[in-house]
Amino acid sequence: MGTDDRRVAAVVVGAGTAGLNAALQLARRGLSVTVVESRPLGEGGARWDNGVLAWQYARAGLAPPTADEVHTGTGRTFLLGPADAGPVVVESPTEHADMRRLNDRLVALCRAERVDFLDRARDVSVELVDGRVRALALSAAPPDAAEAAPVRLEADLFVDAGGRRGVLRSQVPELAAWCPPVGRDVLCTASQFMLDVADADGARAFLDGHGATPGDGVTWVGLDGGFSALAVGVAADLGEVSVLTGAIASGEWGSGRTILDRFRGANPWIGEPRYGGDGLIPLRRPYARLGASGVALVGDAACQVFPAHGSGIGTGLMAGAVLAEQVGGAADPGADGALWAYQTAYHREHGGTLAAYDTFRRCNSAVGTDGVRRMFESGLFTADMGGSGLEQRWDEPSAAQSLSATRAYARDPGLARAMLPWLARCAVASRLGAAAPAEPDLGALRRWDRRLARVVGG
Ligand SMILES: Cc1cc2nc3c(=O)[nH]c(=O)nc-3n(C[C@H](O)[C@H](O)[C@H](O)COP(=O)(O)OP(=O)(O)OC[C@H]3O[C@@H](n4cnc5c(N)ncnc54)[C@H](O)[C@@H]3O)c2cc1C
Repeated sequence: MGTDDRRVAAVVVGAGTAGLNAALQLARRGLSVTVVESRPLGEGGARWDNGVLAWQYARAGLAPPTADEVHTGTGRTFLLGPADAGPVVVESPTEHADMRRLNDRLVALCRAERVDFLDRARDVSVELVDGRVRALALSAAPPDAAEAAPVRLEADLFVDAGGRRGVLRSQVPELAAWCPPVGRDVLCTASQFMLDVADADGARAFLDGHGATPGDGVTWVGLDGGFSALAVGVAADLGEVSVLTGAIASGEWGSGRTILDRFRGANPWIGEPRYGGDGLIPLRRPYARLGASGVALVGDAACQVFPAHGSGIGTGLMAGAVLAEQVGGAADPGADGALWAYQTAYHREHGGTLAAYDTFRRCNSAVGTDGVRRMFESGLFTADMGGSGLEQRWDEPSAAQSLSATRAYARDPGLARAMLPWLARCAVASRLGAAAPAEPDLGALRRWDRRLARVVGG
């Protein structure tokens, strides 16, 4: 069988949300784009419900979720600590949408922009010329073809959107050196399932027990280690329930699935699963180097994830918009200068927030379950703090918030000693994380990355 030789402006590897939006935004700027996916087309990326924010869709160049994407709406979130400390009640800004339907929407939008797809791809390998990726060799099939065949794709720009492990970055020596694999102590093991409500009275009693009503969410933080969550959202019509769980994947805690099963076992009003899934999420700040030698990284492949709760959809979707803005008009979108501009723009826009919350996530892990309980009991954990985290924004505390924190620390001086050094580091990380060097200079980037590592930890 002969090789199918093709040439396009950009090839995106990975048809999850980050890769599809990168393809869409590049195509909207006039680039010819091919997307390569290892699964059958339409089955890529997250296959469960994820929380995404309205401002993230807008910044990513996308319309808000359609009615068929949204399952549980934005009610109130009742945030609880270990031993049911709290609740702190927050008006949730988060839209919980079915990622399978978002994936369908992105594929349809890409097709309307004449993006080509090759699915069921195997053995994707890069061809380097003078250190720069110039082509990919793979075996794949167009979505309507039965048989996979050898394909060779030449392009100016290759986008690694292959998820947590990446596909291209480890094959490019210049990038591999900057993108070490993420260890299990910095990975979140997560599960999310939509399940039937088998007993509406039982669901109502569960909500009543926390002062919540149908349509609200009840979320525990800190039950399985300082970084951990168990979020339960009962639909307003009491027809279905979303359960999301997550904990650090070091093995010290249960997996996302075992935490979910434990909750189901204790709550027999929850019925059978409708759909959902499990996975590992990188929790570190984005890699310093987001592109080199003809390759850009987006999404989990770049660690573009909000670390405090492992949310990577919005941060990955927005990367596609930033990438297209920076390289879309360049004569050579894969040139080092264009990719450096993407890297700088992403860090300047999102790097401060992600570095601050990477530090905050490490603080929560360090103070542990007991520390999180004391944050609730002392009054340190407030609706403002919970709201900023859910909104994925880093806010310097106002005078009123500082006064409230001072009172909380007076109630628990030991907590103050444990938390304050971390919170000072968060503030430094929020500024330093956004200060990536604008001029191409690997020495300056290395110095910035090392300074940031000292502040954030890890
Ligand atoms: C249970 C769970 C719940 C979560 N909840 C939330 C949430 O509420 N909010 C939120 O924002 N985030 C959440 N996340 C995180 C979010 O799902 C991820 O950050 C996001 O899916 C990453 O998108 P991506 O496109 O970068 O990567 P992925 O979704 O991993 O997509 C990568 C794609 O690349 C393809 N691929 C891999 N290897 C190859 C190869 N060799 N060749 C071709 N294609 C390849 C894969 O098949 C896949 O389709 C959750 C994660 C989990 C596991």
